[in-house]
Amino acid sequence: MTPTRPRYARIRQLVDELLTASGTRSAPVPVEKIAARMGAEIVFRDFDENVSGVLVRSDTAPVIGVATNQSVERQRFTIAHELGHLALHEGREVHVDKLFRINLRSPSSSRAEDVQEIEANAFAASLLMPQLFLHRDIASIELDFEDPSRILPLAQKYGVSVQAMTFRLLNLFGSSERA
Ligand SMILES: [Zn+2]
Repeated sequence: MTPTRPRYARIRQLVDELLTASGTRSAPVPVEKIAARMGAEIVFRDFDENVSGVLVRSDTAPVIGVATNQSVERQRFTIAHELGHLALHEGREVHVDKLFRINLRSPSSSRAEDVQEIEANAFAASLLMPQLFLHRDIASIELDFEDPSRILPLAQKYGVSVQAMTFRLLNLFGSSERA
């Protein structure tokens, strides 16, 4: 069954279970270890320049292909994104993610395929930047979303891009900060 809107509560619950089961209590989240726990094999490959990652499902273990031409931070996000598809979506045997799709952020879209991408991105952001960890880590610093140099150390600690961390922080804390 294809959801018509992103299931954020289910995503949070799944991520909490994965973090607990893997004994992950602080950043950086060991995304490759978690993939192994989920039975997925990770391979790094040279893909077409527009492809960020693929998820291949067969009778044997699922395989996540990660494009080598991305930064390590993007590779971690790609792995987490494909794990999101694996955990949330029944699927076609081969799922290919292009860079523009992985950047998809519009929550207003209701196309089934877009909802799946939004869910996979939400899963990846929740897994790599758990809300609980961020609450703890930002308690001691003064956040300034306009200043990338304040975000950089946090992004480095979590092994994510500054862009991904900025978006996550705005998502979690943006509205209350502005109030
Ligand atoms: Zn995807």
